[in-house]
Amino acid sequence: MQPANKKVEHAQTLALYGGTPVFPEGAPSWPSADPGVGEVLRAAWSDGSWGTYHGVWIERLCDALCQSHHRRFVLPCSSGTYAVEAALRGVGVEEKDEVILAAYDFPGNFRAIEQMGARPVLVDIAEDHWSIDPERLDAVYSSDVRAIIISHLHGTLAPISEIEEWAHARGVAVIEDACQVPGAKIGNRIVGSFGDVSVLSFGGSKLLTAGRGGALLTDREDIYQRAKIFGHRGNDAFPLSQLQAAVLLPQLEVLDEFNLRRAQAVTYLLKSGGNWTNLHAPVHLENAQSSYYKLGWLYSGDTGEGPSRELFLQALQAEGLAIDSGFRGFSKRSERRCRRSVALPFSEKAADSTILLHHPILLADQSILDKVAEAISKVHAAFWPNV
Ligand SMILES: *Cc1c(COP(=O)(O)O)cnc(C)c1O
Repeated sequence: MQPANKKVEHAQTLALYGGTPVFPEGAPSWPSADPGVGEVLRAAWSDGSWGTYHGVWIERLCDALCQSHHRRFVLPCSSGTYAVEAALRGVGVEEKDEVILAAYDFPGNFRAIEQMGARPVLVDIAEDHWSIDPERLDAVYSSDVRAIIISHLHGTLAPISEIEEWAHARGVAVIEDACQVPGAKIGNRIVGSFGDVSVLSFGGSKLLTAGRGGALLTDREDIYQRAKIFGHRGNDAFPLSQLQAAVLLPQLEVLDEFNLRRAQAVTYLLKSGGNWTNLHAPVHLENAQSSYYKLGWLYSGDTGEGPSRELFLQALQAEGLAIDSGFRGFSKRSERRCRRSVALPFSEKAADSTILLHHPILLADQSILDKVAEAISKVHAAFWPNV
């Protein structure tokens, strides 16, 4: 293949154009070979609990999550996506209600609101990270708003205390989507403990994984009961299995240690990174410790004569990095499906320019992190030889 852009110099060194990739073996896989998981699998096999409806694993998981998140109730379930829906039901969202969410968010959250027969109300995110800007909430509020979904995305944490204060002054229920940031902390408080109800995901790519699965966490018995009854169809219709609960337990034990290693890797990578003038790192909440499911940047290289985000990503992927674009966002969704009463410039920008490095490589040795920096610098230098 030839460079699409004639201005690209040194491009022949890029793996995309036939050069040698920085990582010929490709990106590391996930989940990692956790020996603790091997042990519980063995134990669940020996006592037959792998194949039972009920048993100790779910109980242990719920206890562990209650304890670590200082919550009274945990509802384990089949996915984070379903947990968001159960949370909406739990806080009492009904048909024709309105629910605020960021115009840049996980697509399932929009669908979950629609699933209730309720109406998504779009609010813009902040300019320099991927979460709702609390300053913009007044402009979209109406007396029909019943709840707000707040997601912590791409390694940044939302200013959730401020949003909670705003919501509670108006009788709006707060749903915290902590699917991407298990174990993160704001001040001394663990993420997943904010809001009236919070949700976690145990999906196959996530930091805590059982292949599939999720959980709803709350202090309020009424929320827990409504959510639970919603999923109960004479049988639990959206369950987490004993075996799924079992494999999560050893992962919870090493979560803090792994989060720390990932955060250190991010610091190291950003510091040792070259002059990546077209990649803009987000601004982080003060006094917070994030957790990295993805490491995100906003890409600005497509202004002027640089490559499109897609071409830039293809070049990085060809070097062997697991790097991709972010969410598409909802700002182009029809007004029949949502209320879009304000301008959403930063959500649109995030939809067009977010790029995300997948987390598994953040647990690798420093020599590998050096090669990640090298790969990004190589692509950057090929497209912008004069920077
Ligand atoms: C992954 C994810 C979910 C849903 O999780 P699943 O378990 O995959 O259904 C919800 N919200 C956010 C922000 C996510 O990243």
